[in-house]
Amino acid sequence: MSLEDVVAGKRNEAGIAAVLGILKQQFGERFQTGDSIREQHAHTTTYLPAQWPDGVVFVETSDDVQSVVKVCAEHKVPVIAFGTGSSLEGQINAASGGISIDFSRMNRILEVNAEDLDCVVEPGVTREQLNEYLRDTGLFFPIDPGANASIGGMASTRASGTNAVRYGTMKDNVLSLTAVMADGREIRTARRARKSSAGYDLTRLLVGAEGTLGILTSITLRLQGIPEVIAGGVCGFPTLKDAADAVIMTIQLGIPVARIELVNATQVAACNAYSKLNLKVQPTLFVEFHGNEESVALQSRQFGEVVAEFGGGPFEWTVDPEERAKLWKARHNVYWAVKAMIPGYEALATDVCVPISKLAECVALTEADIEEHGLTAPIVGHAGDGNFHVSILFDDKKPEEIAKVEAFVARLNERALAMDGTCTGEHGIGQGKQAFLVAELGDTVDFMRQIKAAMDPHNILNPGKIFRLE
Ligand SMILES: Cc1cc2nc3c(=O)[nH]c(=O)nc-3n(C[C@H](O)[C@H](O)[C@H](O)COP(=O)(O)OP(=O)(O)OC[C@H]3O[C@@H](n4cnc5c(N)ncnc54)[C@H](O)[C@@H]3O)c2cc1C
Repeated sequence: MSLEDVVAGKRNEAGIAAVLGILKQQFGERFQTGDSIREQHAHTTTYLPAQWPDGVVFVETSDDVQSVVKVCAEHKVPVIAFGTGSSLEGQINAASGGISIDFSRMNRILEVNAEDLDCVVEPGVTREQLNEYLRDTGLFFPIDPGANASIGGMASTRASGTNAVRYGTMKDNVLSLTAVMADGREIRTARRARKSSAGYDLTRLLVGAEGTLGILTSITLRLQGIPEVIAGGVCGFPTLKDAADAVIMTIQLGIPVARIELVNATQVAACNAYSKLNLKVQPTLFVEFHGNEESVALQSRQFGEVVAEFGGGPFEWTVDPEERAKLWKARHNVYWAVKAMIPGYEALATDVCVPISKLAECVALTEADIEEHGLTAPIVGHAGDGNFHVSILFDDKKPEEIAKVEAFVARLNERALAMDGTCTGEHGIGQGKQAFLVAELGDTVDFMRQIKAAMDPHNILNPGKIFRLE
């Protein structure tokens, strides 16, 4: 499937014109059609073309969402939910035009049930906003993609981050949802009980659906207690394979790391320059342990032994919050550190995930591939899950460079799939990974199409994402 095929979409001009008029009347100033607003609501994070919506509604309540969906359903016009727009695979592009629903004003924290370790939030709440709010409760929400994404967007891309090795991904941390479906009805997928065998699991169906099956209007999340003691540190290794082998053994031994991030030498150099770190330029692991004084000391000692076995170290760790914060801020800023390596160049951040036993082989082959093809492409990974990212720098004005990037991404995906991995551990499919989804799951994608057709018969919810219907 060519890129042209993936991003092609048919516009329903008459329907769009009708909807623009109705929404202007219904929402007044909260409905915007100016170029700069529309541009901000299209994809901006790769060379995929930005496909603007025709208008943007700033919703404030679920009733607003229902009104928009009902109008769009009647006129068969696409509706694309928008959190913060940080998704990386073209998920928010309006390939067939339509209306973007912006959730930035629907950002209330509705309930914190501290005794049940859960909370209910509106979709526009961002992960940093939620943790700021929770600070005095002794609880926190662990999922932390590098961007300050919205909870609605994170649920819809099944996002994860550095803590997933210990706390899971959005699939493990969403207990229940309310969502406006394609016919305008609002449903609740589950109650707040920790587990349930009540019928089909629509919560899990909507998590990761990229806004193609329903528009989320509230999300009930699991929370975690803030650990009594957090210890963290870094250690270098002679080769990337040694570092990855140390990760594999750490996981296989059951050392309960909270975070274990693999950073290759190119990425370490970029972090040093951008985040003013002073790390030795070599393959490095960033790690963190959660527990009490005794348990983090034990975990750190056990981890230190693994490190030594693979020729790494010394492993230096600290419980000093400032030092840790500096390190993890640098980790979260890797994308910007990569972009700063060659000013004016674009960075395509792509991710794959493999069974943990294949991690070392996959990253080593990928690093060799980067070198062989003369790419500047740092590697960084949520390695404890077998998930890693490559950020490839390129000049997006040169078609031959884009072709080189595409060929690399195709080889990376083939490699991960050959190891029984997946074409995306956390970024999702959007427009950019559709061909790889078919390579990964084959006929299974037909059943996804059938679910989509049953739940959204007129294909108005974020059409053209995850797969083509035709
Ligand atoms: C610097 C950087 C670092 C990143 N690091 C990570 C990382 O470590 N881990 C990771 O998983 N991702 C990462 N990402 C990708 C991105 O942050 C995630 O995909 C995130 O979940 C997107 O959230 P968002 O609020 O920006 O959603 P958007 O980009 O606005 O939307 C994403 C998708 O969700 C849908 N959507 C949004 N809101 C709703 C709703 N209310 N109802 C239904 N559908 C909705 C949209 O239609 C779209 O399909 C990173 C991105 C950047 C730019």
